[in-house]
Amino acid sequence: MSTLEQIDSYIEANLERWFGELGQLCAVPSVAAQNRGIAECAQLVHELLVARGLSSEIVPTAGNPVVLAEGAGRSGRRLLFYNHYDVQPAEPLELWESPAFELARRGDQLFARGVADDKGEFISRLAAIDAVQAITGGLPCGVTFLVEGEEEISSPNLPGFIAENAERLKADACLWEFGTVNYEGAPVLFLGLRGICYVEFSVKTAEIDAHSGLAGSIFPNAAWRLTWALNSIKGPDGRVRIPGFYDNIVPPTARDLDLLTALPDESEKYRQTYGVTSFLNGMSGGPEFRREEVFVPTCTICGLDSGYQGPGSKTVLPAQAKAKMDFRLVPDQDPEDIVAKLRKHLQAEGFGDVEVTYLGGGRAARTDPDDPFIQMVIRKASEVYDKPTQVWPMVGGSGPNYPFTHHLKVPIATVGSGYPGAQAHAPNENMRIPDFVRTVKHLARIVLGMGGN
Ligand SMILES: [Zn+2]
Repeated sequence: MSTLEQIDSYIEANLERWFGELGQLCAVPSVAAQNRGIAECAQLVHELLVARGLSSEIVPTAGNPVVLAEGAGRSGRRLLFYNHYDVQPAEPLELWESPAFELARRGDQLFARGVADDKGEFISRLAAIDAVQAITGGLPCGVTFLVEGEEEISSPNLPGFIAENAERLKADACLWEFGTVNYEGAPVLFLGLRGICYVEFSVKTAEIDAHSGLAGSIFPNAAWRLTWALNSIKGPDGRVRIPGFYDNIVPPTARDLDLLTALPDESEKYRQTYGVTSFLNGMSGGPEFRREEVFVPTCTICGLDSGYQGPGSKTVLPAQAKAKMDFRLVPDQDPEDIVAKLRKHLQAEGFGDVEVTYLGGGRAARTDPDDPFIQMVIRKASEVYDKPTQVWPMVGGSGPNYPFTHHLKVPIATVGSGYPGAQAHAPNENMRIPDFVRTVKHLARIVLGMGGN
């Protein structure tokens, strides 16, 4: 048998052992938002890494600890794995078909909170290391694992951790915490994530709500103040009206647009899944739709709250109004610069009474589709998947990839066992075993590829 054949049969023969470890991990309810199970889960991750012969350390941060592990390889090259051990809350518990923190197997699927996001992905990386070490007697490249515990609460301490430990985290390439196949089973590479800027607005016009008959003609109304302020931020044409908002945008290249054009048109799927009858500005799928979807920054009202919302009528003039808003940013917009421009804009428009609280954010970042590491990941995928890799130059969502590309200057590939039905963050989160097997085989080939094989 060739080395690859031996690796593949090793992977197929050892699944139960890895699912046992996955079961242990999923049994720890490491819900960052509820501050549960964090120390216990970090300890377990540390032990799983040590069991691979890696030197591992639980590093405290201002928030949840990071588990950092390193192993030497035959070549001078180094691969960095980024994963997280925290999970989303499991509620609503009654919608789970089996207990959320017990790994359950039904058919060829595994179910538990975290099985897809991100504990299953973490185990798939350990499995690939196991297979390569068992068959080749060592590692062809150095490996570093960075496993954080705050991904599901926006990784507040990760950028600082990476900046402080940049020397120690030095690597030639990075594998991201997630990866997926699409509806048709083709592997998908996301080469960029948008940035985000999240703000909360608050207006207070009086100490208490008032009778609208008494106050309607003579009191300011917090709900109107907020509505007018929001109206000044974005118009019905979709353009953001904050001066300078679009200043630092780097437009997509011809290569980016070619990649977008090669992607399947999924507009009809969106229509069906979400029940939307039309898209903004009369768009109807196609390359222009894709470009708008990922390369144009957004301004979204995520929540609005003021006055009476119960049944029937209540004639009240609200003293307070609140809204939440996120901006999805594209390279090279900077969230803190956007907040500063937003505050200045509201002031200039006469809305100095609208308080803006910055709840957090991060910049967009991208990896070059022609980077040799990315090309290697695509080549190796073709040995495992029967459909060609779909390359997304950018995707609409956000994640903490900027500190990796900025401080570590690594190309980042998204390789993993996700699929559109994984129900990450929702009840009955699951992973399909055949996806796991293909991911481990792909990862093992990438590890070999880093060593020049
Ligand atoms: Zn998640």
